[in-house]
Amino acid sequence: MTIRIKAIPSLSDNYIWLIINNNDSTAIIIDPGSSEPCKSYFDQEDIKPVAILVTHRHWDHVNGIEKLVHDYELPVYGPSTEYIPCLTTALNVNDKFKLPEFDLDFEVIDLSGHTAGHIGYLTDGMFFCGDTLFSAGCGRLFDGTAAQLHASLQRIAKLPRNPTIYCAHEYTIDNLHFAQTVEPGNEEIQLRLNEAKTLRERNQPTLPFTIDQEIRYNPFLRTDKESIMKAVAQHSGQKIENSEDCFRYLRLWKDGF
Ligand SMILES: [Zn+2]
Repeated sequence: MTIRIKAIPSLSDNYIWLIINNNDSTAIIIDPGSSEPCKSYFDQEDIKPVAILVTHRHWDHVNGIEKLVHDYELPVYGPSTEYIPCLTTALNVNDKFKLPEFDLDFEVIDLSGHTAGHIGYLTDGMFFCGDTLFSAGCGRLFDGTAAQLHASLQRIAKLPRNPTIYCAHEYTIDNLHFAQTVEPGNEEIQLRLNEAKTLRERNQPTLPFTIDQEIRYNPFLRTDKESIMKAVAQHSGQKIENSEDCFRYLRLWKDGF
C-alpha cells in the first residue's frame, strides 16, 4: 500500500488532512470542520472516505462530521472526554488502533492544553496534532492549562523518528512575525518567513513541518533558551526560572498581555 497526504483548505485558515490509499482510493479524514470541500475533492478524484479522526471538539474541526457521516456512513474516532458529534469510537490517551481498510497502526497521544481532552494521532512517521503545535506557534489555552500545553509540546518534540507534523491551521506567517518580536536576532525566523511567503504566494500550504526545523525558530519550542527567557522576563516583568514559566508568559504575550 502506498499513501499520500492531501491538505483540503477549509473555512478561513483551517486544513482538513486526508490520508489517501493510492491503491484503492480510500481516505481517512482528519478534523473535518466543513463537509463541502471534502465532498468536492472526493467527487473530483473518485475517492471513497472510510473514517473520520478528530483531535478535539472545536467547531472548526467537527462541523463537517454530521453531513459526511450522513453521506458516507463513516465511523468517527475522537477523544472520550470531549463532545464529538456522531462519535463511534471513544479514544483514550495511549490507545492503539488500526483501521481495517488501511494497513496503519495509530497511537493516541495526550495533547491536553488547547482543550483539556485534545489528542493527537501518530502513525507511520506522521503526526496529526490539531491545534496544539503550529508552525512557529502553538494553540491558545481554552480549558487546558499552560503546564499541560507545555508538556504536550515537549511530548511532540520527543516523538520517536522525527515524524512529519500536520497541524490544522495556516498561521505560519503571523506566527513568524511574533517570533521576530520575541527573538529579533534569530536569523532562522527570517529564512522560514521567506520560504513561507513564497509558498503562500503560490497558494500552497506552509505545512507540514518537522520538529527538527521548528526547534530553530518556533519560540514555543525554545522556552528553555536564554534569549527567549530574557525577552519574556523583560516583557512580562516576571521572574522566569524555567521553561514552563517561560512558556506561560510567552503564551500570554502572544495573546496580547
Ligand atoms: Zn481548536
